[in-house]
This record gives sequence, structure tokens and C-alpha cells, in this order.
Amino acid sequence: MLPFKLIYSDGYYLPIGEHVFPAHKFRMIHNRLLQEGIAGPEDFLEAVPASDDDVRLAHTSDYVGKLKNGTLSPREELQMEVPYSPSLVHAFWLAAGGSIQAAQHALRDRVGFQIGGGFHHAFPDHGEGFCMINDIAIAIRRLQKDGKIKRAMTVDCDVHQGNGTAVIFAPPDPEAKPLPSWSRATMSRIGPAADLEPFEGDVFTISLHQENNYPAWKPPSTIDVNLPDGTTDEEYLSWLDTVLTAGLRQFDPELLCYVAGADPYKDDQLGGLLLTIEGLKQRDLLVFKAAKARGIPVMVTFAGGYAQNVLDTIVIHCNTVLAAQEVFAPVASKR
Ligand SMILES: [Zn+2]
Repeated sequence: MLPFKLIYSDGYYLPIGEHVFPAHKFRMIHNRLLQEGIAGPEDFLEAVPASDDDVRLAHTSDYVGKLKNGTLSPREELQMEVPYSPSLVHAFWLAAGGSIQAAQHALRDRVGFQIGGGFHHAFPDHGEGFCMINDIAIAIRRLQKDGKIKRAMTVDCDVHQGNGTAVIFAPPDPEAKPLPSWSRATMSRIGPAADLEPFEGDVFTISLHQENNYPAWKPPSTIDVNLPDGTTDEEYLSWLDTVLTAGLRQFDPELLCYVAGADPYKDDQLGGLLLTIEGLKQRDLLVFKAAKARGIPVMVTFAGGYAQNVLDTIVIHCNTVLAAQEVFAPVASKR
């Protein structure tokens, strides 16, 4: 039995037809975790849909109304890049609910897994890049509303920048008190020499992503690491280490939301980085070890993964569960 819960539902399947997004991947991850003996049936909890009030914590009432009533304009639907349907709305509400549950369980068990989610391209008032609503932001705002946490950090390791998350948690007036990392930081701008001041906002957003990739406009996260094409395991891990150290020196979160995208993988169809499957597991281990060392609970969401061979995407996601088990239950790691 795992020392943490995996939140899942067969309803995570996204009814989007033929699409580069592997809509069956959530079920495939679920099945592989069971088949490989990584998890047992008792480790899974069924996801429950978020309420409309939950969704409105991160999205405008106007946008939520359009989704519920089916009144998106054709342009808005195109921008979302997934075909609108009421059943797709239900799948996204379910994903948001699952992320809330994963965050709640993280506070209890130190780690909570959402076997889905990671829809970081959804903005307050519109969807983009296969993302209708931002489950990560909804989960953080719900826990804050419930008084469970005040401060959260997102660590977004998808190959694409977390633009929606950056905008949802943007400080009200970034010009009022600029920090060195608020500007669109490049790799050279953050480092040990950076003048780090405590961060006074309630959500600190970190994104490591490929610079020459979607989204073209990258609204500033608290710290962005714009990685060049062809970044290797070693380079990536070095930047992740640097940015985690810098972020956790500026900010003391009560919850870390890890967006474990599978698309920095070298054979990803939508990514241009060169991480290996082993390198991606090292990435997971680094995040979990950094959080464990500081006693910060971790909520994990899976985000993108468009490998040429879908099985690679599944293995990368399952390895994230294994990495958490190795870090948080080293003695029981062989089941
Ligand atoms: Zn992605």
C-alpha cells in the first residue's frame, strides 16, 4: 500500500476525438500502476467534480456561465483547441475536483496525486492549449478559502510555460514592488548571485519550459526559466535545482503544487527538449526531496505528454509515483 492517495476517475477521459492529446492516457496510467504492482486498488480514491463555486475561485462568472450554457464563441472554442461539449465540461470539472482532493490529501499524507489534471493553460476568462479550466489554481484557491493554507508554490515542469497559472496568480500591481525575478527571467538572470528578497504574495509560481515553444506570449511567472532547444538531463536538473533553491529561499509555502508534465521528453511530438525517461525520474526525485527536506506537502498533477509512443508517456507518469514512493517511503519501496 502506498503512503499516499492517488485520485482518479474513468471520467477523466476527454471526449475530444482524434487529437494529439492522448485522451486515454489517464486510464492507461491507472491500469499500468495496478498491473505493475506499483499501486493496489486501495490506493485509489474516486474523484468528485468541483462545484461551480469552486471553479469561480479561479475563473470569471462570465466564463463559467459560457461553459455551463454552451455559449462560447467559435473563436473562443478554437483558442481552447479542444472541441466543446457538455461532457467535456464534466470531465474538466471532475479533474478540478480531483486536484482539490489531491491537495487535501497532500496536507494529510505529505503527498497527494492527481492522476490527471495539470491544465495550466486555462486563464481566468478563457481556455487555451487543450485546457478549459485551471485545476491547479482552483485547488489552491479552494484550500485557501477553507483556511487550510495561506501560501502555495507551483513548480511547473511541463515543457510549455504555465501561462494561465502565471496570470491567475499575478500580483495585482507588479510595478509597485518589483523583484529581480518578476521580469521575464532568462536562465542567466536567476542564479546564486541574484538579489533575493522575501516574496510577499500568497502564491509563488515557478515555470521551467522551452522558450521556443507555445505559448508565444509568456506572461511572467514569479520565476520563469526559459530553456533553450535541446536542453539535456544534466542541464535541466541543474536549472531545476537552482530555481527550487532560489524560490524556497524567497518563499515558505505550505503546499507545493508540482506540475509533472511528461513532455520535456526527447521523443515528445510537441516538445524540443532532450530529457530521457531516467532524467525525468531524476527531476521528480529532486522536487520530492526538496519538499521533503523542508516539510512541505506536495500535490502532484500530470499535465502534458505527447510522446511518439504513448507508452513512453505512461511510463514517465508512472515513474513519478515511483519517485514519490522512493522519497517518502524508502523502506517500503519494494512491494
Ligand atoms: Zn505541455
